[in-house]
Amino acid sequence: MRLAGAIDIGGSSTKLGIVAEDGSIIRRDSVPTSLHGEPMVVVDAIVASLQPMLDAGGTEGKPVSGIGVSVAGFLNRDHSAMVHNANLPALHDFPLRQSLKERLGFDCRLEVDSNAAVVAEYQYGAGRGSARLLGVTMGTGLGGGVIIDGKLLRFTGECAGDLGHIIVDHKGRLCTCGARGCLEAMVNSASLSERAGGRAVREIITSAREGDQLAMTALAETGWWLGLGLASLSPIFSPDRIVVGGGIAAAGELILEATRASYRTHARPEFREKTQVVGSSFEGWEGIVGAASQFLNPIA
Ligand SMILES: [Zn+2]
Repeated sequence: MRLAGAIDIGGSSTKLGIVAEDGSIIRRDSVPTSLHGEPMVVVDAIVASLQPMLDAGGTEGKPVSGIGVSVAGFLNRDHSAMVHNANLPALHDFPLRQSLKERLGFDCRLEVDSNAAVVAEYQYGAGRGSARLLGVTMGTGLGGGVIIDGKLLRFTGECAGDLGHIIVDHKGRLCTCGARGCLEAMVNSASLSERAGGRAVREIITSAREGDQLAMTALAETGWWLGLGLASLSPIFSPDRIVVGGGIAAAGELILEATRASYRTHARPEFREKTQVVGSSFEGWEGIVGAASQFLNPIA
């Protein structure tokens, strides 16, 4: 079975591993993303974790065909660098593809993280069979990717644009982009944490599962805002299915129930009926699966 290396650089952590052509993750690890320092600090952390996995595969006679890289932010036209993301200043305009290729010794291909996530769902997960798929990823930011008839939308920054920055509340939280009340600002990790008394996302999810009322309410409120945002996006992309992924989506029904209820309240009637809102199949690891698919199962 063919294998590919995979890296998913997010605003808080970088996930990496080895993925097989059936979409299964063979090896995996996660390292913190250094946001503001030198870009080589980010690269060094990736190499330190991924190199031993690549070496082990080589020794066992299972080399990778290349390394797919998913990065949060817009890409330039030739997919050699990330050029815009308020949450990840360290990598702006840095020749990421070339740098990783030199250090790891394999061909590397870059993809926008929101595209990688929606590709993973479309090919291997909750998005299979959808004709018009919208995938959103909730974490440090809120990204969105769209696949229509098997093709990725790439009209801004090599993706469907900054879907997380539609404004849903003009009096809402200040966003990292400089505007106020963006969907991202209302549903990201920082907003969820604020609603739950400053706790970290993972802790909030664990506490909510144990019945902690404040944590459950914080997740439900975040889900409500997400549903409102998805209802606003539906007339633009007309999705038949919406997959919600990313670190916060690991809360499953604790957030999705409120998201669906809010979506049904706010969306216009045709979308209330025809659009399914479902959770990701990958528990936050969709980015590396989609990144690897650039070598294993490329999409248009
Ligand atoms: Zn914004």
